[in-house]
Amino acid sequence: MIVEMRRGAAKEQVDQVIARAHKNGCEVQLNIGTDKTVVAILGSDTGRIPTELFAVLPGVESVTRIMRPYKLASREFKDEQTLVHIGDIVVGGPQLVIMAGPCAIESHEQLLKTAQHVQKAGATILRGGAYKPRTSPFSFQGLGETGLGLLDDVRQKTGMPVISEVTDPHHLDGMVGQVDVLQIGARNMQNYSLLRAVGQTGKPCVLKRGLAATVTEWLQAADYLLASGESQVILCERGIRSFETSTRFTLDISSIGVIKQSSHLPIIVDPSHAAGHYQLVPTLARAAVAAGADGLLIEVHPDPANALSDGLQSLTFNDFTRLMGQIGAIAAALGRTM
Ligand code: PEP
Ligand code: MN
Repeated sequence: MIVEMRRGAAKEQVDQVIARAHKNGCEVQLNIGTDKTVVAILGSDTGRIPTELFAVLPGVESVTRIMRPYKLASREFKDEQTLVHIGDIVVGGPQLVIMAGPCAIESHEQLLKTAQHVQKAGATILRGGAYKPRTSPFSFQGLGETGLGLLDDVRQKTGMPVISEVTDPHHLDGMVGQVDVLQIGARNMQNYSLLRAVGQTGKPCVLKRGLAATVTEWLQAADYLLASGESQVILCERGIRSFETSTRFTLDISSIGVIKQSSHLPIIVDPSHAAGHYQLVPTLARAAVAAGADGLLIEVHPDPANALSDGLQSLTFNDFTRLMGQIGAIAAALGRTM
């Protein structure tokens, strides 16, 4: 249930709403906007509470039941677009934010060379996995802490903020100081203890869509982060499982529009994991930008043929530079900057 306060409602009036929610066994979350406060009344059983219970309180403008199963990520709760700040970079505004780098951090040289190249081509955030959630336990699992150290070094050398995947809440202590954006992978979208732990860090995070998750389930996962105190959440569409086998996953372009309608959170697209093949990555990347994505997350490797993970879908430096030129033209046509 969403309680919208009148413009200029006094703090005591908001407190009264909160007290009534608590008295009825509900939790609350506040959205203090520039001109009005919105109170989300949260609980498994809010359906039994009559809206009048809040509507009669002084300072309340309206009370709306949310029929959707997600609340905090919804536009009913917060209509104004969320802007996620990563250093000087803003995700969700007019700037199209490009995050690029290798699937996995393999060596200092590999990471530094890639960072310098993607930065020169216009990417502003460096990606690199230290902990890799591989489908097979026999595949390369990432360099772990050593990888984080390399990432931190390259981050300092280039001045680029970095994004890296967290697969286990126990790794968070080591990651919060060295990583600017925490990535929650598709396989962990419904790992609720991980979501809560990441949410409590308050650090910007990217929440990938699960391999077989509906948009609603994805936004419910975002609610876990938001309910844990996180406000800096970026959604990432990376393709879903379908009957089609010619791509690794099917990129759901329509989810960009659906998210824009139903949520205030920014959405970026990862064309690499959807395509599964370097030749298809540019097509999906261009489509995502044209459809209104707020950014892209792209795998780039100095020598894809010898990459330790996801070489087939990784772009070479030249291919990435060419793609950046095309994306720049699409962004400009849409009135976006890069
Ligand atoms: C990745 O970004 O390298 C990754 C493992 O992605 P996903 O979780 O989308 O499969
Ligand atoms: Mn990968």
